[in-house]
Amino acid sequence: MKDPVALYVHLPFCELKCAYCDFNSYAGLEGLMGPYVEAVAAEARLWSALLGRPPVTTLFCGGGTPSLLPLPSLERLLAALRDAFPFQPDCETTVEANPGTVDARYLKGIAALGVNRLSLGVQSFHDDELRALDRLHTAQEAEEAYGWARRAGFASINLDLIYGLPAQPLARWQATLERAIALGPDHLSLYALTVEEGTKLAYQVARGLVPPPDDDAQAEMLEWSLERMAAAGYEHYEISNWARPGHRCRHNLAYWQCRPYLGLGAGAHSCLPWGDGWCRFWDVASPRRYIEAVAEACRAGPLADGLPDALAALPQVAGREVVGLEGAMSEFLLMGLRLRDGVSLAEFRRRFGRELLDTFAGPLAELSELGLVEVRGGRLRLTRRGLFLANEVFVRLL
Ligand code: SF4
Repeated sequence: MKDPVALYVHLPFCELKCAYCDFNSYAGLEGLMGPYVEAVAAEARLWSALLGRPPVTTLFCGGGTPSLLPLPSLERLLAALRDAFPFQPDCETTVEANPGTVDARYLKGIAALGVNRLSLGVQSFHDDELRALDRLHTAQEAEEAYGWARRAGFASINLDLIYGLPAQPLARWQATLERAIALGPDHLSLYALTVEEGTKLAYQVARGLVPPPDDDAQAEMLEWSLERMAAAGYEHYEISNWARPGHRCRHNLAYWQCRPYLGLGAGAHSCLPWGDGWCRFWDVASPRRYIEAVAEACRAGPLADGLPDALAALPQVAGREVVGLEGAMSEFLLMGLRLRDGVSLAEFRRRFGRELLDTFAGPLAELSELGLVEVRGGRLRLTRRGLFLANEVFVRLL
């Protein structure tokens, strides 16, 4: 494969499972960290050989809590990845970290390893809200971590925040966002709280112990945040993401623009070009099973040529889905509409040899009449009203 890839590494270790979290993450598996890093390194070598050493444009180490990895393990992981793949010289390299798991020395250490983007899971600047979410850090620890990160010299720092917590008044969200803006991060991800099946929060809501998030309150918070973030000089470039000029997350842009990405690690998803669409596949979720499966794959020797056949022979791959032309066009549209710049009509034509506005003429006419989408400057995008009703737009386009 000649295309460059965005590389994702999943590190599923956490100190405690947060109340709202449905990510593939586990508390109490720290003992597996060493073998897990070796398994990811081995999986990187397998994929590199299979794909012909594609260049890596961005690397994102997500989780879980990647900052729980001891510095030597992270060093080993990055060295193995750089050995397996040619990294582009300006490769954006992100590590997610939680306040309370890092200190000044650790952050300096990972910056020295070539990590140039840090994403801090702050979520709230109110300790009672953090406790209700089962976050283990305090607001003060988040501020300290930010200060250390700035001094460590990362080119870009992101803060993740969550709004619309159960019974959260607007003023409390405003206070959290004001405190975040005052720190001066380069990037902010603001997520509306959702209740995911199987989480502690879902149990609490079902039992009436906690009120469910209020859609109207969340819309009001988003409305206020849009104005406040613009006034603070941040560009709103994706439904939940804001950046100072030059600090958009290039890795996540690869997902939203449907460019190839390769995921390594338990539960990691990949999407690579295949036929006139692409092939999506994902690794087994259990970290223990993942380690065993990668070892089996290494013992099995050389892989079949061609993606779907090779996937069938890889025991760590839990599932796959081939997306043909029709599916690929829909996904390209839906993912692109998440971006405030929207979808380029010319890019759609270049990738699929079709006209976007003709291909989706029916639903787009309806959505345009409702004032939810618009074409401007050769791009189809959500209107401001469409931004608040994005889920409705996506359902109509499915
Ligand atoms: S730290 Fe992140 S990944 Fe871990 S449990 Fe909490 S929300 Fe989930």
